[in-house]
Amino acid sequence: MAGRLIVISGPSGSGKTSIIRRLLDRVDIVFSVSATTRPARPGETQGVDYDFVTTDEFEEMIARDALLEWAIYDGNHYGTPSDPVEAETAAGRDVLLDIEIEGARQVRAQRPDALMIFVSPPSTEVLWQRLRSRGDTSSRDIASRLKIAESQLEEAPRLFDHIVVNEDLEHAIDDVTDLIIGS
Ligand code: 5GP
Repeated sequence: MAGRLIVISGPSGSGKTSIIRRLLDRVDIVFSVSATTRPARPGETQGVDYDFVTTDEFEEMIARDALLEWAIYDGNHYGTPSDPVEAETAAGRDVLLDIEIEGARQVRAQRPDALMIFVSPPSTEVLWQRLRSRGDTSSRDIASRLKIAESQLEEAPRLFDHIVVNEDLEHAIDDVTDLIIGS
């Protein structure tokens, strides 16, 4: 049986990355390594966290139709290479995509059967507090991310199969695990 495509999306500060990290330890699922033009951050490994590419290389992938979806986020290109996703799902393995909402829209249009999960902060107030306490985001960036988050929270119920509210990290991890194992 073919593996499933599982999409996890959510605003910056929703806790999505922490949930995904823990999920990968628990559930037998392959993480889809995206291509991006953003520079690697300290601690990130080429080919593991991302395939770090130049803008020319990324544009070449678009021209070859090699991406299942792609989007520009915060000035950088991000995209999911199709071949590994096809190969893993054909081999019966579930594949997890950690992508932003524009990419999620594209996956929804192409793969209506994908399992799509949106991680939501409990409120925009909590999101504001989390972004502030991370200390890596300027006030102007926080304001613009909050605006983006508000419009995503509004659209999420129409686009996603499930919304997991991350009020408590352990509960949210359990909820996402149950959705993937139980469906
Ligand atoms: P970061 O730069 O913090 O690693 O990721 C920024 C955003 O890009 C996150 O919301 C992440 O989910 C999203 N992202 C990562 N890879 C992809 C991808 O392949 N496609 C799309 N559309 N978004 C991605």
